[in-house]
Amino acid sequence: MLNFEDVEERDGVRLSWNVWPSSRIEATRTVVPISALYTPLKQREDLPPVLYEPVTCKPPCRAILNPYCQIDIRGKLWICPFCLTRNPFPPHYKDISNTNLPAELLPKYTTIEYTLSRPAQAPPVFPLYAEDLKALRDALVVSLSLIPPYALVGLITFGTMTQVHELGYAECSKSYVFRGGKEYTQKQIQDMLGLSTTTRAAPRAGQPMPQQAFGAARFLLPVQQCEFQLTGILEALARDPWPVANDKRALRCTGVAVSVAVGLLEVRILIVGPGMVVSNELKEPIRSHHDIERDSVKHYKRAVKFYEGLAKRASNNGHAVDLFAGCLDQVGLLEMKSLPNSTNGVIVLSDSFATSIFKQSFLRMFNKDDQDFLQMGFNATFDVQTTKELKVSGLIGHAISAGKKSACVGETEIGIGQTSAWRINSITPRTSAAIYFEVVTPAGQALSPGSRGLIQFVTHYQHSSGQMRLRVTTIARNFAEANSPSIASSFDQEAAAVLMARIAVFKAEIDDSPDVLRWLDRMLIRLCQKFADYRKEDPVSFRLTDNFSIYPQFMFHLRRSQFLQVFNNSPDETAFYRHILNEEDVNNSLIMIQPTLMSYTFDVEPQPVLLDSVSIKPDAILLLDTFFHILIFHGETVAQWRKAGYQDQDGYENFKELLENPVTDAQDLLVDRFPIPRYIVCDQGGSQARFLLSKLNPSTTHMSTSMYGTAQAAGAGQAIFTDDVSLQVFMEHLKRLAVGAQTN
Ligand SMILES: [Zn+2]
Repeated sequence: MLNFEDVEERDGVRLSWNVWPSSRIEATRTVVPISALYTPLKQREDLPPVLYEPVTCKPPCRAILNPYCQIDIRGKLWICPFCLTRNPFPPHYKDISNTNLPAELLPKYTTIEYTLSRPAQAPPVFPLYAEDLKALRDALVVSLSLIPPYALVGLITFGTMTQVHELGYAECSKSYVFRGGKEYTQKQIQDMLGLSTTTRAAPRAGQPMPQQAFGAARFLLPVQQCEFQLTGILEALARDPWPVANDKRALRCTGVAVSVAVGLLEVRILIVGPGMVVSNELKEPIRSHHDIERDSVKHYKRAVKFYEGLAKRASNNGHAVDLFAGCLDQVGLLEMKSLPNSTNGVIVLSDSFATSIFKQSFLRMFNKDDQDFLQMGFNATFDVQTTKELKVSGLIGHAISAGKKSACVGETEIGIGQTSAWRINSITPRTSAAIYFEVVTPAGQALSPGSRGLIQFVTHYQHSSGQMRLRVTTIARNFAEANSPSIASSFDQEAAAVLMARIAVFKAEIDDSPDVLRWLDRMLIRLCQKFADYRKEDPVSFRLTDNFSIYPQFMFHLRRSQFLQVFNNSPDETAFYRHILNEEDVNNSLIMIQPTLMSYTFDVEPQPVLLDSVSIKPDAILLLDTFFHILIFHGETVAQWRKAGYQDQDGYENFKELLENPVTDAQDLLVDRFPIPRYIVCDQGGSQARFLLSKLNPSTTHMSTSMYGTAQAAGAGQAIFTDDVSLQVFMEHLKRLAVGAQTN
């Protein structure tokens, strides 16, 4: 029996099923597709990259030699498991023997990283955008010291106007101004900046700067050459000189600024500041989910189309576009989301640039590894190979299709399909892609004993040291006959919940949310019909084995989550939440779907408690982690004592400790979270407590009947005002539907 966490630790992969149905029809009956959540750059301290090139199969296959290949030591050849070609080993492998094998053939190297000898095409570029506010300027100045000295930087500022600053002009500061409220063509931008198509590219790392900087090089310089000048410009930036009346929104021409940047350059674009999605009249309210649903938003469609066009260009050029918004108002993330979504840029939403959410998240983006390299890679290509029984249905994550219509591409499309390779412009150790597969073998074909399928993930990227790297993960799983119990017992309910959540969110971007909820319900009922033990029409007999038992609960919380119930959030927040879900691994995604809740009280160790209103107790402190919020909630009595100052009196040391424990634990949760979550401390009955109440299962509601909730909750818990069904009611319905009993 596989330990899912060990596999994840080694290969960065979690699969919905770890034994695969052997025919197409049987795979359809298992409801949840064979799928993988894969973290290509998962950090492996014990996996230093090898310093040689990989051995590859002949084109067009190009699969990479791995521990699952059959090798013939005497004949000096290996058989590719994907296309069955016999390949001779390269001449320098002539001395291999069963006791002298290269690393990539050893069983422990199912994941391996190669350092390629060919140099990267260009150094990473960090054009900086600034909306001119002091806190933001300070953060940008600090960021200059954190990026590699050879990385190219440029500065574009925007307010009413967009200014492109010429950094190669040392004598005094000089900039080119673009008017907001106007759409510039690519040609116009290039002409105005003096860039023609024949202009030479920015200099490569290690090459001397030309005496006379021309073309894009006037705007982009290695940070080591222009740090002083850039800092000077940032320090001197005045607020937008065009004053804004009190009843107007500040005018911002983010769109123009982004067009200019995309026209200018290469790799990473940081956009900090709001965009133009409503007119500047404050009396014209910013669009809500209701407005968009009614199709009544004036600028919406045009803005989406404009940014989608830019996103396409940016992603094809290998740029990553990051959005940092620091504003209480909505800034148009919904319209702009295609930029970070298709380039795997970062989104950080904060109320102001002075908040720690912005400041710490911004700095955390420049985190370094123990060798002082930025923890991000650039211009990645992600390739998937499968053995012949499996085909690739698609990928859900922050990528674009690389248009590779290989033999591994299947007919079914899930997410970004019709390709077996994708581009991920910026990639971090957190980046996790969901990849979906279908089985294509027709039913009735005899399964040879021990038959297994293979998947190879190949990620080619530019390391922040400038080296090109290749990370290869090869996994093998057995096939089993229809109805074999080994299929059911190989189900990873946590991975499956996250993989299904990504499909649901992908659908929700296109379809109405009631349709998506109905789809999720149907899939859950079918899964239970197939894998639960029950007698027909007898809901009481319904049982799920341990490895399916919490799956329905994940679906219950997913249905109620901000990912699918959008009307309690602004469209910008929805775009932000969905973006983060599509980035993270299984554990972090599960926290987003079903937040964790810890209870602290006297004389007992802190313990996890049900995400349920019954967990609210007057003498307890709760610590809620929703991934986006970390909240400490003081029960009524605790809050009264705290207000009375007991914690500062002699003899009440245990109360002081009780108050401190959740704070310490909250700090631990914050350590490697990105973006930094919102931190809330509140009391029972306080207005901020709504963040907790909205996440709790409403087992004690104003609607509760005597059958569910109130019995066990008598005298405890807090009633939640909601029309939601509780988990208990949801489970009763599910059992009835799964066993085919009458529903009432
Ligand atoms: Zn091959």
